[in-house]
Amino acid sequence: MCLICDRIRMIKNGTNPYFVKELETGYVVIGDNQHFHGYTLFLYKHHGDKTELFHLDPTERAKFLEEMTIVAKAVSKAFCAEKINYELLGMGDAHLHWHLFPRVSGDIENYGNNGRGPVWWYPMEKMYSDDNRPSEGQLADMKSRLLEELEKLI
Ligand SMILES: [Zn+2]
Repeated sequence: MCLICDRIRMIKNGTNPYFVKELETGYVVIGDNQHFHGYTLFLYKHHGDKTELFHLDPTERAKFLEEMTIVAKAVSKAFCAEKINYELLGMGDAHLHWHLFPRVSGDIENYGNNGRGPVWWYPMEKMYSDDNRPSEGQLADMKSRLLEELEKLI
């Protein structure tokens, strides 16, 4: 079972509490853990054998990238990022999905290169700690802030 397909199935049946908005090529969701405040994912709608950007036909790829860029801008505005980090990985779940991390100075403490570097240089056990899970109220607030910014751009 693909975790992303499972989360999309939950969006479709109305049981995914992290779901923010459906776009043409994907779904916007808030990340489960919020050490990087405003961490958002953009999940491509389809899985199947399309697991690389170069598997998509050029029109579909352009739309997917354009929508991801719009989501990144909305995340940046909603959560006051100094910089957005964009990542499309997929060794865990090959399903195309963007990780959008709003970054601010000091967010990896003194890890990495004296506090500078990618999010993954922050210890995994701290990044994915249950202490970083938003409360129901915090999640509702984040979703409404992001949705408001998205709707200004779409
Ligand atoms: Zn999948």
